[in-house]
Amino acid sequence: GKWIYDFSEGSKDQKDLLGGKGANLAEMTNLGLPVPPGFTITTDACRHYLEHGRTPEELDAQVTEHLQALEKSMGKTLGDPADPLLVSVRSGAAASMPGMMETVLNVGLNDDSVQGLAAQSGSERFAWDSYRRLIQMFGKTVLGIDGELFDEALDEAKREQGTESDLDLDAEHLRDVVGRFEAIVREHTGADFPQDPREQMDMAINAVFDSWNSDRAIIYRRRERIPGDAGTAVNVCSMVFGNLGADSGTGVAFTRDPGSGAQGVYGDYLQNAQGEDVVAGIRNTVPLADLERIDAGAYDELMATMARLEAHYRDLCDIEFTIERNKLWMLQTRVGKRTAGAAFVIATQLVDEGLIDMDEAVRRVTGDQLGQLMFPRFVSGGNATQLTQGMNASPGAAVGKAVFTSEAAATWVQRGEKVVLVRRETNPDDLSGMIAAEGVLTSRGGKTSHAAVVARGMGKTCVCGAEELQVDTRNRRFTAPDGTVVNEGDVISIDGSTGRVWLGEVPVEPSSVVRYFEGEIDPESDDADDLVRSVHRILTHADESRRLDVRTNADTPEDAARARRFGARGIGLCRTEHMFLGDRRQLVEKLILADGDAERQAALDALEPLQKQDFLEIFEAMDGLPVTVRLLDPPLHEFLPDLTELSVRVALAEERGEPDEGNLRLLAAVRGMHESNPMLGLRGVRLGLVVPGLFAMQVRAIAEAACERKRAGGDPRPEIMIPLVGAVQELEAIREESERVLAEVCEECGIDVAPLIGTMIEVPRAALTAGEIAGSAEFFSFGTNDLTQMTWGFSRDDVEAAFFHQYLDKGIFGISPFESLDREGVGELVRIGVENGRQARPDLKLGICGEHGGDPDSVHFFHEVGLDYVSCSPFRVPVARLEAGRAAL
Ligand code: ADP
Ligand code: MG
Ligand code: MG
Repeated sequence: GKWIYDFSEGSKDQKDLLGGKGANLAEMTNLGLPVPPGFTITTDACRHYLEHGRTPEELDAQVTEHLQALEKSMGKTLGDPADPLLVSVRSGAAASMPGMMETVLNVGLNDDSVQGLAAQSGSERFAWDSYRRLIQMFGKTVLGIDGELFDEALDEAKREQGTESDLDLDAEHLRDVVGRFEAIVREHTGADFPQDPREQMDMAINAVFDSWNSDRAIIYRRRERIPGDAGTAVNVCSMVFGNLGADSGTGVAFTRDPGSGAQGVYGDYLQNAQGEDVVAGIRNTVPLADLERIDAGAYDELMATMARLEAHYRDLCDIEFTIERNKLWMLQTRVGKRTAGAAFVIATQLVDEGLIDMDEAVRRVTGDQLGQLMFPRFVSGGNATQLTQGMNASPGAAVGKAVFTSEAAATWVQRGEKVVLVRRETNPDDLSGMIAAEGVLTSRGGKTSHAAVVARGMGKTCVCGAEELQVDTRNRRFTAPDGTVVNEGDVISIDGSTGRVWLGEVPVEPSSVVRYFEGEIDPESDDADDLVRSVHRILTHADESRRLDVRTNADTPEDAARARRFGARGIGLCRTEHMFLGDRRQLVEKLILADGDAERQAALDALEPLQKQDFLEIFEAMDGLPVTVRLLDPPLHEFLPDLTELSVRVALAEERGEPDEGNLRLLAAVRGMHESNPMLGLRGVRLGLVVPGLFAMQVRAIAEAACERKRAGGDPRPEIMIPLVGAVQELEAIREESERVLAEVCEECGIDVAPLIGTMIEVPRAALTAGEIAGSAEFFSFGTNDLTQMTWGFSRDDVEAAFFHQYLDKGIFGISPFESLDREGVGELVRIGVENGRQARPDLKLGICGEHGGDPDSVHFFHEVGLDYVSCSPFRVPVARLEAGRAAL
């Protein structure tokens, strides 16, 4: 097989084979850019090495062949004592894993060739500096010697010369450092530093292969979801030298600002240094713009090269370069990482520069990035003091009083306070506190800790692993590293995007992107910044491209109005259960306790006008757009008092000798309705069938509200949705009753309203019998929350907090199936439902209203299976619009 490619043989599209670094070195070589010649050993060879514990048979001969070709083109021989060719041996996997694997520079130097290098370059100092670097890097990464030993020896030498800078060490000093380094190698390996250049190279190659499985590389891959068996390529690249003096140096650069996307000169440069010095922070770098003053010729060539790269890659690139005696060399490039905001700005800039079209611009940004731009942000300034910085586990800006227990969180919030829950780490018992709090701060645990996983799932701000904080739960306080003690009730601010924690209130403001969605910033006006303008253009194009409609889940007129401003074209899920809470609880109690038809009807009659009022306002907010109202779904006992609490109340009253008749009856009812698995109990359509008149009352409220809106000149478009149907017979019964009520109301009002009647598909049986169900349903809405619960047999409330973080750690799934639709399982049921439903009724309207409606990956799936719309929470509407556009392109 062919295990090696010369830089002139490959291209940027061969990342899987050559790794990102190798593929792009090849691309630059073929563009005619100044890349030091070299070759790439493929990832295939690495996989072979990892699998068999040794390199492929032919590799050695192929290395010899390519090395000879390299030597010929350079006119030098590796490690030649008189005039040595030196090479770097560099890792480079297909997926970028910055700093995770090894690179060795100056391979080919030994006690003899260091003299040749000195003679050829005319600089003794440079030669010894290069040699000490080789022993240092090789000793650490290839021979596995603790790098600190070398660092200490170097520091010691600097101390002896009374300096802190390596530049103050002259040739003599550095020769002395080499001696000390060689001694370290001898002491720790029992052998001399390898003097044979080819042996050095082979050892370095194997060390790079091995670094694929270093602990930090494994951890990094797990976190970034990079497959563990891909392997790394190895790049052997002839050395160029930035450490030859003041006319040399090395640097990194971006073709635009990766923070904001702004055009300009961004990067760092370090004179008289070798590559790794820049990142290692050995000395202070200067801004790249200063290079113009230091070396105008090299600077101009660099600028031209960067422009060339951008035009070629049609994207922001980051690069590594070295200047050797005023000559520019390119050592690396790749399409650079950027912030969410920069991604939008750069995409539209590139359109304006004619490098990409709008379709491509939409493809270049993601819903996740848009989501990040919608979080409120802390305004800098104010007089809060930063206490520490933890891990940015779940983005957002939260301000509130510190509380230390879940109970305290709930109590304080009931009093109308905003709180931040502070814990050493959270556990499932903290769930209610996490729900109540503005944000969560923990001193232990990483980004997959309980707190982090649950907070992200809830979209709640979270900073975790703030290890400098001493959290004292018992005494309800924590101590910051500077000794500041924060007691329960003290206001703190936490930034889930940066991990920062402050004492005091840092002011927050809505992001400019949200103000644009709210209609407060006109994207065409001067108020709009580059970001708002870019978001507007990209979303407009996504809207023009998408096939999926986007609706919202909203139960209040306020939410409906906001979602409409955010671009929702209707409501896909209007839950009616909140309409049974608050003061209306008493009416529900009456309904449940009703003795006989008359009492029950009285209770329903009292509820009906209240329901109607709710619908009137929502229909008005969504005038002209569909509003899918779901009839009552949760078990009725959710509206009743808590069993334990009520038992205590009754017992106390009895002790006092004043038993309360009403409470006794209520207690009996609560006991009678107790369910072990409420999720699988009396709820949804089952309620409608078991509690006479309940759904009829809701249908009547919908119909009357619609008539009234019409009479007022409005255009209400209600749709009636029956939850939790598993058999067509259930739906038929409710449908018959509903149609009767609708006809009655139309008759009474003299106005025609004919809402569509449809069902949720959220019980596996419904998906499997969708063909029959479609006979009685004008639309389906996939309730993917329940469908996920029932397909996996997970009760979401119980499992998510209890053990999902362990499932994620163990890799049983990469992401919670409640967050992103499980395509193979739940998705298959959706597909069956779609196909069978449409077959039975070609004009069946199909939508989804689970939380997956706002999840980018899931939106793509729903596009693929051919749904008509997705429905999601108001804040996710723009994300869904963008992803629906991306799915269609
Ligand atoms: P990483 O992937 O960690 O960036 P690299 O392989 O890019 O590792 O190398 C580390 C540093 O060494 C970089 O700054 C790079 O520019 C520099 N470097 C690598 N190869 C050479 C070379 N042949 N000549 C000069 N500098 C080099
Ligand atoms: Mg690099
Ligand atoms: Mg449901």
